[in-house]
Amino acid sequence: MNDHLMNTYRRLPVAFRRGEGAWLEAADGRRYLDALSGIAVCSLGHAHPAVREAVCRQAGEVVHVSNLYRIPQQEELGTSLCAASGMERVFFANSGAEANEAAIKLARLYGHNQGIEEPAIVVMEGSFHGRTMATLTATGNRKVRAGFEPLLRGFVRAPFGDLEAVRTIAANNRNVVAILVEPVQGEGGVRVPEPAYLNGLREICDDQGWLLMLDEIQTGMGRTGQMFAFQHHEDLQPDVMTLAKALGNGVPIGACLARGLAAEVLMPGSHGSTFGGNPLACAAGLAVLQTLQQEQLVQRAAELGARMLDGFREALDDVEGVRDIRGLGLMLGIELERPCGELVARALEEGLLINVTADSVVRLLPPLVISDEEAEQIVGKTSALIRAFLAEEDAS
Ligand SMILES: *Cc1c(COP(=O)(O)O)cnc(C)c1O
Repeated sequence: MNDHLMNTYRRLPVAFRRGEGAWLEAADGRRYLDALSGIAVCSLGHAHPAVREAVCRQAGEVVHVSNLYRIPQQEELGTSLCAASGMERVFFANSGAEANEAAIKLARLYGHNQGIEEPAIVVMEGSFHGRTMATLTATGNRKVRAGFEPLLRGFVRAPFGDLEAVRTIAANNRNVVAILVEPVQGEGGVRVPEPAYLNGLREICDDQGWLLMLDEIQTGMGRTGQMFAFQHHEDLQPDVMTLAKALGNGVPIGACLARGLAAEVLMPGSHGSTFGGNPLACAAGLAVLQTLQQEQLVQRAAELGARMLDGFREALDDVEGVRDIRGLGLMLGIELERPCGELVARALEEGLLINVTADSVVRLLPPLVISDEEAEQIVGKTSALIRAFLAEEDAS
């Protein structure tokens, strides 16, 4: 569509000129209901007044100064994120991949500090951790890695949800220093593990002296009905947690949080970022966190998500070709028995923005600010599209 952009995305033929709440308006004036939020980014919806105000105010004062100086907005956001998560220290980056890079470097240094010269990190099949060299190596999807070999050493893979496999790795591999895992796999198809899984991983980490590192880039900031998905589990605390996506509601920002020994690993000279945690990004992050708390949107995500899940089960449970309907909070997946990528364009024609991941999983990540009526519309329209799609395929 534009010869001057690298061909990294198969883009849909639509451009949006403005948005409000859960709605986006295209250049031709047509309005679309957004059930994707820019892939779990705009959880407060589009043009949220709190974010707009914070960004405009900060842009009028100072956008960037460098981490060579104190940055009050970064200190305040760091403190607030730690208070909300039980973590102790934060490193700010500009994206999810960078937040995970920080976590991976932290884990390796943690290993080297104990005399482990080839530290390894356990990662899961079906995972997604980003597109940089280290994070694509960590990612459990061959398509993401293909063509970029040689990959990095120091990663050991286990099936997602399989505690026994991780115990076997523990028994056989003396170099492991950490586990990196998503509490709910997002790109992998909205895969929600058994409730005992994360606690089981925590136990193994405690036994082995490994770091439990949670990639909450997609699940964090209220998406799953808790501020952070690990908080669905009583008494569970990771050693490291990464955030990005919804943290800035669209202003690029990522974060790597740590506590305990893990919080003391990175030192001056061992990691850094020019833009990371600049006043503009942190002002946005603060506005997001305050709005989530003030408007009780996390609770809302839990309630509305449960209601939408029920709605989908009612509408689709008996439909042949639907393999599974699952989710946590406002992270919803409907797995079909065959690839269904074309549903995205069909939904667009109907004025609805959805996503298909892992070939056959319809994924919904609506803004946390949607109304009951908008939620019903999403369930109704998506279910109808899926029914029609499956009926057609059956006929052919
Ligand atoms: C999106 C995502 C990333 C990568 O974030 P980027 O900002 O695209 O680099 C990493 N991990 C998870 C779980 C994600 O959903």
